[in-house]
Amino acid sequence: MRGPVLLAAVVAASSALCAAAALAEEWSCANSGGAAASPAFAALARQPGRPQIDGLDIVYLSPLGDPGHANAWQNIIVHQTEGPPGSARREASDQFAHPTKRGVTIWVETDGIVYWSVAENLIPTHGEGGDRNDNKYIDNTKTFHQVVKTNSIGVEFIGNYPDVAKPATSEQVRAWLLLAPFLQERYGIPPDRIYAHNWIDFKDQRYCEGCELATLARKQAYCPSKLR
Ligand SMILES: [Zn+2]
Repeated sequence: MRGPVLLAAVVAASSALCAAAALAEEWSCANSGGAAASPAFAALARQPGRPQIDGLDIVYLSPLGDPGHANAWQNIIVHQTEGPPGSARREASDQFAHPTKRGVTIWVETDGIVYWSVAENLIPTHGEGGDRNDNKYIDNTKTFHQVVKTNSIGVEFIGNYPDVAKPATSEQVRAWLLLAPFLQERYGIPPDRIYAHNWIDFKDQRYCEGCELATLARKQAYCPSKLR
């Protein structure tokens, strides 16, 4: 029985991978019918200082600079902190004080307020080096040891404590779906380079870290101006 069972498992795994690859294709900018940037939004997304997006509240602990001088961000990694509601500002302030410690650039509170902690040319320590290689969620040949802290800007969603499986709040989802296109436009990141942390590293099996949020952002199919 071992042969057929193994074969069935291989077929199931490869069809899952095909499905994942098809979805990634759908969300790449190459054949995008996705949402276009308005010139005003594209200009806003390239501003230095403390640009504010309509409908979104961003608190900048560090002002933005010229995006041309930012670190070369190619990916966005979506994290969940497994920390309590109300801790985003403190986490962002700690990161600001120690920019390269474990943590990320952007923290989102359960009320949807976004805290931009460190300057965009600094690299906080996050991710586990893109160690996932089982193609369980996406094609990991494109991420294995490639989606890492030096090329990925991190966003942390606060509040899944004490229950790690507690989903992001509706305010966080709303904020994220405005924030993601801003980051994509600013750094030229296509939708298929938005990753849930759990898709690229082996994480806590009690929940899928960042999966719902990353999926929603990909589905917006926002394609930055420079890739259209
Ligand atoms: Zn994470």
